[in-house]
Amino acid sequence: MSKTKVAVVKCLPLAGNASFMGGKFIREEDDVSKIKATVAKAVELAIGSLDVIIKPGQTVLIKPNLAFQAPAESHAVVDPRVVEAVVSYVKENSQASEVWIGDNPSLGMHVGRAKPAFAESGMEDAARRGGVDKVIYFDETEVVEVEIPEAKVFKKAAVFKPVMDADVVINLPKLKVHLAGTVTLGLKNWNGIIPNMHPSAQQQGAHRIDLGPKFADLYRVRKADLTIVDAIIGMEGQGPHAGTPVEMNLIIAGTDTVATDAVSAYIMGFDPIEIPAIRCTANEGLGEMDLEKIEVVGEPADAVRRHFGRPNDNPIGMYKGFTVYAQQTCPGCYANVRGALDSFKNTGINMTEFISKKGEVVVAAGGLPDFDPEFAKDKNLFVVGDCWEYFPTSDNIRQAINVAKSVTYYPGCAPVYIFAQLNADLQKMAKAE
Ligand code: SF4
Repeated sequence: MSKTKVAVVKCLPLAGNASFMGGKFIREEDDVSKIKATVAKAVELAIGSLDVIIKPGQTVLIKPNLAFQAPAESHAVVDPRVVEAVVSYVKENSQASEVWIGDNPSLGMHVGRAKPAFAESGMEDAARRGGVDKVIYFDETEVVEVEIPEAKVFKKAAVFKPVMDADVVINLPKLKVHLAGTVTLGLKNWNGIIPNMHPSAQQQGAHRIDLGPKFADLYRVRKADLTIVDAIIGMEGQGPHAGTPVEMNLIIAGTDTVATDAVSAYIMGFDPIEIPAIRCTANEGLGEMDLEKIEVVGEPADAVRRHFGRPNDNPIGMYKGFTVYAQQTCPGCYANVRGALDSFKNTGINMTEFISKKGEVVVAAGGLPDFDPEFAKDKNLFVVGDCWEYFPTSDNIRQAINVAKSVTYYPGCAPVYIFAQLNADLQKMAKAE
């Protein structure tokens, strides 16, 4: 039996990378041409030609990773040059009737809607320059209820209709580490095929268990016909939103998203088995993660491999006067508190000044075996999650609410939206007179 192929292709040096990594995106025509040639080579090595997956007259949906409403310089979203190159390549090299691009920020209303996110990331302009026929704001479309009989956690999912309507789907993730998923690649990018309004049963149910089985289930809804990983500039450290850019200058492509993710994760210095989404999908028989059974074409993976810095998901003890008490048997609350603190720090805030002006902050996240109400007396208290109510210390939390200087409550289990909302509320507090 022939092995599944994953292409790894190196792009020629890009003039705009230095300023982009330094915080200013500059589009150079020549850079887009070089990336387009790299995409073309990767597709050719992986499948021969787009005609293998796109028949005349078919519609094609490109699903980028528009994880957040954030500028391109955040490196949290797909590089606009890659978006332009992929759209333009598909338009010119396939007999598709229409090429669409569509997505939705992963935390839905709490980090912005699709339309402003497409605009702020530069993706909409890039896709239009590439000749896209339609930019689809997923949160403005209908959803389709899909049964997933073999699912472990998502027996049924509400899926954005364009994902089901398109004849061909191209998955376009970015090469990043992720504090909850270890990495975010093609499988994690499927988080955007479902609405992410929080708190909602659909989102929270899956996050309470684990992201791995969730992505195996979502992958059953509809596999991508082709996955193209934007590995031009990756992200290490506090990904997926607050990490450090890493120049890789690669495009990685394959028809098996699991195999493409496995090779991409290996290039980031991981063993694919370390990534829950990869091992769950592979062990469900949905793709190949065994590198011995994957044919890597183009650059040998070892020749371009480097160790990406790992994210830390623990928010405890980071700042004097900003105390986090968290239930550490379940990361559903604490990992998202950490994500919010990383975003808050990235605003350039001076934490010492913030605490001295606004007063001490206490975050009580999840169910706490011990919590003295005096911890919160005259401080700004943030109560996170639902499960504290079921712990013997629930009365202590209620007393803390009565003696705190200010109280903000984030219901839900897991309250994933605090990743964005706690950061927004801290910023509001910092700006208030
Ligand atoms: S509320 Fe409790 S069970 Fe739910 S995610 Fe938070 S810590 Fe976990």
